[in-house]
Amino acid sequence: MSFSRINASAATSTRTRTESSPCSGMCVVCLDGCPGTCEIAMSALRGREMLYPQPFGQVTAGSAKEYPIDFSHFSIQGSCVGAEGMEADSDKAIFPNVDLSLEIGAKEKIKLKVPFFTGALGSTEIARVHWENMAIGAAICGTIIVIGENVCAMDPRSEIKNGRVVRSPEMKRRVGIFKDWDEGYGEVVVQMNVEDTRLKVAEYAIEKLGVRAVELKWGQGAKDIGGEVKLPSLKKALQLNDRGYLVFPNPEDPEVQKEFKEGVFGEFERHSRLGMVDEEEFYRKVEELREVGAKYVTLKTGAYRPRDLARAVKFASNARIDLLTVDGAGGGTGMSPWRMMNEWGIPTVYLECLLYNY
Ligand code: SF4
Repeated sequence: MSFSRINASAATSTRTRTESSPCSGMCVVCLDGCPGTCEIAMSALRGREMLYPQPFGQVTAGSAKEYPIDFSHFSIQGSCVGAEGMEADSDKAIFPNVDLSLEIGAKEKIKLKVPFFTGALGSTEIARVHWENMAIGAAICGTIIVIGENVCAMDPRSEIKNGRVVRSPEMKRRVGIFKDWDEGYGEVVVQMNVEDTRLKVAEYAIEKLGVRAVELKWGQGAKDIGGEVKLPSLKKALQLNDRGYLVFPNPEDPEVQKEFKEGVFGEFERHSRLGMVDEEEFYRKVEELREVGAKYVTLKTGAYRPRDLARAVKFASNARIDLLTVDGAGGGTGMSPWRMMNEWGIPTVYLECLLYNY
């Protein structure tokens, strides 16, 4: 039995003509003359466009792979004997008295009203558009919200001087919305990838916007590569190329510019680099962030193999950071290759078992 559904998915708007072979995903009878509605045929025609869930900028996506064990295999077990978190008294152990609050953090504590927080919302359009609702919701719930990677650099109104961000209206807006609704619980956290670190985004967020929590990012559950977005304009592609990102095809190339203007292709791609994790460098970076003024330092790790999870636990413990986020496979707010989202990383239940044992 195959756990994966291949060659046809709502994520890529593809389907097969007949029932499909579990091995290849192709129709059991692939017909000469079929217009080619499946992922393989569409890939042959549309190329890398078919790598990503569609339409880009308007969707979030989640893996369709059915692992043998998932959260539906667990049920919550109550008891009629005693009470947890309150007195075992029939008049006190009542619904309105349920308290889910907790504190997280190594030294200084972040108080949460609820035992969950949001995934990071970065520079994708869908994250930008829905930030206000999410940030207000997080503040009212009393939880953490994370501003994902690349927000300053993707902000067309950002000012960058001598290689560092000195102004970003979009970052200011995101931090400001949470703070306006802040009721003393939760926190707004700013995430850092390779490019954010180079642009000194943490320094800007801490010194100019009063941010207290910074997250170092090793990766995400949706993929093992850096963040990506599509860029529908040459101007934006040139701007991000100038800001140090990997932009494909090269927007500086006159031939590429000519082809874009003639409509040969309609979008550039912006890719972020992957950080190269090093133990000593990690400890140095955590200290550096604390010296700049970060009250809380957190780490998010991604769809890597078990020994990298062990590394994350060890480094996080040694550096006494405030929170380690372990992101299970596979979904995301934007541009992650669809097959990678399905076939990469450790499924969440298995990942949590490993984490518990470490
Ligand atoms: S090309 Fe057509 S017949 Fe062949 S696998 Fe794809 S959908 Fe099926």
